[in-house]
Amino acid sequence: MKSKHVKVIVRTRPTSDFANGILQISQETNSIHIHIPKNTESGFINNQQEDWDFKFNQILHNASQECIFDECGAPILKSLIDGYNGTILAYGQTGAGKTYTMTGTTENYVHRGLIPRMISQLYKEIANKTQMAITVRISYLEIYNEQMFDLLASLNDDETNTGVLKIVDENIGPSLVKNLSLQIANTEEEALNLLFEGETNRSISEHQLNKNSSRSHCIFTIYLESRSRVESSEKVIYSKLNLVDLAGSERLSKTHTSGVSLQEAKYINKSLTFLEQVIIALSDKKRDHIPYRQSKLTNVLRDALGGNCNTIMIANIWGVKEHIEETISTLRFGTRMMCVSNTPVLNVQYDPMALIKKYEREIKELKHEL
Ligand code: ADP
Ligand code: MG
Repeated sequence: MKSKHVKVIVRTRPTSDFANGILQISQETNSIHIHIPKNTESGFINNQQEDWDFKFNQILHNASQECIFDECGAPILKSLIDGYNGTILAYGQTGAGKTYTMTGTTENYVHRGLIPRMISQLYKEIANKTQMAITVRISYLEIYNEQMFDLLASLNDDETNTGVLKIVDENIGPSLVKNLSLQIANTEEEALNLLFEGETNRSISEHQLNKNSSRSHCIFTIYLESRSRVESSEKVIYSKLNLVDLAGSERLSKTHTSGVSLQEAKYINKSLTFLEQVIIALSDKKRDHIPYRQSKLTNVLRDALGGNCNTIMIANIWGVKEHIEETISTLRFGTRMMCVSNTPVLNVQYDPMALIKKYEREIKELKHEL
């Protein structure tokens, strides 16, 4: 099995005065240099001069949504259709452009984000694969405060109304979350409606439960089940794609957490810390215990982190002077993430019912020959 490192791509949110010369980007070498001068009145850490150098797989500076799709979305989509799992994570502080990257805005077509573009391209590719029968299913999960919410639960009728969401230990079903609803989407329009439904449910519950959306993780997952129309149909290829809009990575100070419940305050800073602990454990080759189970997020994404998956992380940065420390923290996280390696494998399974049918046919033919 070939292992593959997580690919980390930095995306900048366009600003007129890009960090005032403190931050320099070289797209030719995919590197970022940060120089914090000594004794500025801006109150940087210890008021000391500091220099930072970072290098990534790719830096997309002031890039269009189309460019993000071409660089991050298209290769993952291609391997998804070939039968490999994929995950794209958007990481960064609140305001850095995670939601813009994943979902985009609706006022103009050019602002469509990765999810609608991936959906659109998926159905184009499916239409071209005439020799394959491909079923598309979709789930949309939100994790807030270590609680899981099924954003598509409203579409279940009473009989299929699901029970409590629970993470399972074994990768037996398509999803690692038991009772999460999976909706079939036969067309691009149906899939987009599911995205819209999920977004609507997310904002309804935000009001009802007084949630702050920048603190929740949203995982939009597309599951493919592909069978050949020409060869034997007992061979089934399963693959899935997670498109993840993570909670804001900023460390919240006490003043920011006043007015929230104690329970919430406890988790705000923790949830991404657990992700970081998993990443650190994975980048240390000597560690055999990976603490996936410490949090819902890392447990749900355990395939994507050091497992069977092609994973890309988009590190969104907001290059203005007052956020330079958050930018450094995002770039340090991205550097760690590049050390994580995965082993994507083709997910072929044999459908037992189809196998039985095949054997029945063969027995019948043999009897006929006798
Ligand atoms: P986050 O989800 O990380 O909190 P958002 O995606 O909501 O951040 O972005 C904050 C604001 O900046 C939004 O108004 C968004 O439209 C805008 N924005 C972010 N990135 C870009 C970009 N690359 N191009 C244009 N506008 C952007
Ligand atoms: Mg957001």
